[in-house]
Amino acid sequence: MTADDRVSIHVEPGDGARRVPRLSDLRDLASRLKFAPQDGRIWLDEQRMLLLHAADYAVLRRQLLDTLGLEATRALLTRLGYAAGSRDAALALKLRGRKSLGDAFAVGPQLHALEGFVAVEPVRIEVDVERGIHYVEQLWHDSLEASAHLEADGVAAHPVCWMQIGYASGFNSALFGRPILFREVQCRATGAPHCRIVGKPVDQWCDDDEGAEEDLRFLRPEDFVNTALLKRAEPLRQADGRPVDAREQAFMVGASSGFVSACHKLQQVASTNATVLLLGETGVGKERFARMLHRLSRRAEGPFVALNCAAIPENLLEAELFGVERGAYTGATESRKGRFERADRGTLFLDEIGTLNEAAQAKLLRALQEREIERVGGSAARRIDVRVVAATNVDLARRAREGQFRADLFYRLNVFPIQVPPLRERRDDIPLLLQHFAERYGAEHGKHHPGFTHRAISALLNYDYPGNVRELENLIERAIILAPDGAPLDRQHLFESELSETDPVLALDRSGAILPAGLATAPAEADEALLSDLVERALDAAVPLDALELAAMKEAVRRADGNLSLAARQLGISRAQLAYRLDKQK
Ligand SMILES: [Zn+2]
Repeated sequence: MTADDRVSIHVEPGDGARRVPRLSDLRDLASRLKFAPQDGRIWLDEQRMLLLHAADYAVLRRQLLDTLGLEATRALLTRLGYAAGSRDAALALKLRGRKSLGDAFAVGPQLHALEGFVAVEPVRIEVDVERGIHYVEQLWHDSLEASAHLEADGVAAHPVCWMQIGYASGFNSALFGRPILFREVQCRATGAPHCRIVGKPVDQWCDDDEGAEEDLRFLRPEDFVNTALLKRAEPLRQADGRPVDAREQAFMVGASSGFVSACHKLQQVASTNATVLLLGETGVGKERFARMLHRLSRRAEGPFVALNCAAIPENLLEAELFGVERGAYTGATESRKGRFERADRGTLFLDEIGTLNEAAQAKLLRALQEREIERVGGSAARRIDVRVVAATNVDLARRAREGQFRADLFYRLNVFPIQVPPLRERRDDIPLLLQHFAERYGAEHGKHHPGFTHRAISALLNYDYPGNVRELENLIERAIILAPDGAPLDRQHLFESELSETDPVLALDRSGAILPAGLATAPAEADEALLSDLVERALDAAVPLDALELAAMKEAVRRADGNLSLAARQLGISRAQLAYRLDKQK
């Protein structure tokens, strides 16, 4: 732990002077704000921004209140602000992460001012990551939202700066990796001279703080699922009808546009009986989406049955899906229901659908078309009422075109495809997911951690997550176990070595287990452009394939200082394979 994980600013109040950051303090931020009128764009670093008339924002806000009502408008704006704040926290770490935590912390108020919302004056700031202390009190001058409200509605009965309060919560939560709730204890819209906000860790607001519980409702990470979605969802039940663990229920967390658009599609299709195809890389959470779809559907009271087609040996797959009649084959001593029958009046989730063999594909097609199945070794057709949700991480359309997957089955499955984005395309959700998993695994392993150090947050926000949400989840669980109880989670608890945070140091193998990057059995997808370039050059120069292979192996061995295991890892083959191939070429 370093002094780096502490910020302390204490301003004696009452002298009436207004202390907002001097412009020179935010030159690094201002230099990231670029106007590119020829392209019709405004950039804040790599984010496209929008210059909107404040008067129009006031109208928009008024119309939201009219159409959605107070509760939903407040929730929407709070989360919008939260997402912006957490995005700006990522920028803070990028620009000032190597400076002190105080410098990074200052980015929030400074960007909030630069973006035109409010001038922030610190009153008291005490942050000590190691000791779990987080207290921030600030004054807001000339709040945009307060003005908008006063203009449209006159004096308010309650604080109204929802988007801004969401921003402060999002910025602090993301920067410190623990849920920080900001509340407006006074607001200019209610007639006060300025707004006053206080931020504390969620667990330090107590029941005595009037309204804290209510404010919190708009910011629980699990609510970012899209409250509308969750509210409508039936609790997920186990086979015996008991509801599944609450923590499991609330998994889907996110506020990024990719995630929200996938949720929106889910919502659209849920109430129908349509077959749904979930597309996305390994680890993006396709099963969670399938579960949510089930909960939102009219079948929510029925069973949810899941099967990973790749996990079942090919010769057992048909029996697993469609059931077996007694005596169908040696060993089939009694009749057994398959997954289809068990999912009757419910939802059947078939993961890795691309691995089904021809026979199983034919039977699945029939089940989808005729709504009936036959057990293996049986001849009676059984009616079934099952909604199929399939998932795949391969390009099924291409496989169908190339004849490796039945085209007619593909079209049946592809009625309503939903793309679940990889984590690297929804980075905005990382802070929310961090909190969610830290809370969850802290409780599960009986450990308390006062958040993450800013080194850790910086590493986590910059990492590429080849294994997606599942990898992030595994990283957090491991860190919770490794870190001493009561200590903040630091980078060394998350990542094995002190490699640069942009290097993927861990990767997932095909079973989803975490391994050091070089050991993962699934080698990283080769860069297609690079590959085609190499091939072209080799063909042009008429280099024989053997020579190409030998050169690659020799170079890998040279780079690994003769360590064959290490060289083999770099090449994505086993040590034995490397030794054999080298020997063969001698
Ligand atoms: Zn206010």
